[in-house]
This record gives sequence, C-alpha cells and structure tokens, in this order.
Amino acid sequence: IEIIGAPIFNERNMLKGAVLLLYDITHLKKLELMRKDFVANVSHELKTPITSITGFAETLLNGALNDKETLHRFLTIIYDESYRLQGLIEDLLTLSKLEKDDFRLTRTTVHMDQLTGEILPVLHQRAGQKGISLSTDVKEDIALQADGERIKQVIINLLTNAISYTPENGEVKLSVTDEEDHVHITVSDNGIGIHPEYVPRIFERFYRVDKARSRNTGGTGLGLAIVKHIVEVHNGNISVESEPGKGSVFHVLLPKHDETSL
Ligand code: ADP
Repeated sequence: IEIIGAPIFNERNMLKGAVLLLYDITHLKKLELMRKDFVANVSHELKTPITSITGFAETLLNGALNDKETLHRFLTIIYDESYRLQGLIEDLLTLSKLEKDDFRLTRTTVHMDQLTGEILPVLHQRAGQKGISLSTDVKEDIALQADGERIKQVIINLLTNAISYTPENGEVKLSVTDEEDHVHITVSDNGIGIHPEYVPRIFERFYRVDKARSRNTGGTGLGLAIVKHIVEVHNGNISVESEPGKGSVFHVLLPKHDETSL
C-alpha cells in the first residue's frame, strides 16, 4: 500500500486534521513482478539454444569439421536448436500481437469442417511418425463467426500437444460438435496425463510439468498460453480433464455469434 498524506489547517493556522490517501498497489506490483519474470524467462529460453548453437559451431570450426560423422551429428544439433529458436520467436510474436491494445480479430463465417480439413493433413503426418492414430469426428455444417486463422492455431496447438504427450501407438481424437449457440471442440488423448496439482498452471507462459520432456518434443512452453488467449478474446472458455497415466481431454467452447468481444 502506498500512503500520501496532507495536513489541514483552520483559519488561525491550527492543525485541524489530515487527509490520507491509501493506494492499493498490490495489483500494479504483481503486474510488475510478472513482467520481470517474463523477461527473465524469455532471456533464459533464448539463451539456451544460442549457447548450444555457438558451442557446437565453435567446436566444428576448431577442427571437428574434418570428421564426417561428428560433422553430421553437430550440424543436426545446430539445426534442431535453430528450429526451436524460430518456433520460440514465432510464439513470442504471436503472444505480443494478441496482447496489443489495438488487436482486433478478423471475423468471418468459419465452417469448422473446412477449417479442420485444411490443417489435418499435417497433423496426420505428425501423428503417423509416432505411430499414433488420429481420429476425427467433425460434424457437418457447423459454422461460427470467428477469426479462422486463430481458431486453426488453437486446434493445431492442442493436437500437437496431444501427440507430443502421448507415447507411441497411442490414440488422439478431435471432435467438433454443435451446442445450440456454441461450438464445442474436444481434443483428447490417452497419453501421460497431468497431475491435478499442475492443471491450473499449464496455461501460464513457460510453465511445463516436465521441462526436459517438453524440450525434447520441441515445445516452447507458450502453446497453451496462446490457446487460452485466443479462446478468451473470442469470449469462449477452455477447460481440462486429466488423469496421470490415463490421458487428457481439452474442451473449448466458442460462442457462434458474439457482439461484445474484439
Ligand atoms: P509445451 O511447449 O511445453 O508443450 P504448452 O504451453 O503447450 O507448452 O503446455 C504446457 C505444459 O502442459 C506442457 O509442458 C505439458 O507439461 C503440459 N501438457 C500440455 N498438453 C498436454 C497433454 N495433452 N498431455 C499431458 N500434458 C500436457
């Protein structure tokens, strides 16, 4: 709390009282702490791949270049780390765009079967590489007023996670159903699941239940923060049911028409 005070005098210049202003700055302090935390996290996340890239490039330049097998191995690491860096920067730019004061959704009539049809081939391929079966149940003729590109991102991020956090030969399912004035998107998997203690935190930026695992799967730690943001600017809602060792189900509810949101 910040306190500002001023005395009040009467006509004879005698102290009559005082005015005290109490400002509750808890919220501001919290925002400031979050901002500092975020900058520290971003710096750390950027530094890790860059240290690795410069380290391996330096070793190659210092002579390891002559050994073909080492060359291949190190270049693969350099490529992977650059790729991770690219993903991280893309996610950071997406988040900062979404948070801008003048951010507006580009709403059109979005047909869910058409939208999912455009993104599923790549996701089928990704699932196939892990031997995961990706099944879809997208009802016909479901349409809503929304920003199609953003909704695509929501589904891509949720399906990518479902594939990443499900062991080989698992099952991932996408369903889209009509619920009167809402569209209900469900992404479920029979993967590693999330302990209830961690569920409230997974939408925070850079929060990962298992850092090493997320790094190995190429995650940036920002995917769900972006998903939540997009759902909220559409005035929608996201929730999770999960059980460790059994799997997870992510539910997204989006209003079909919404005059109040951006
Ligand atoms: P990441 O890039 O690490 O996947 P996200 O923001 O997409 O970042 O997810 C945050 C964390 O939530 C993940 O690191 C993981 O621990 C957990 N998580 C997300 N989706 C799933 C899922 N389908 N099954 C199990 N854990 C998940």
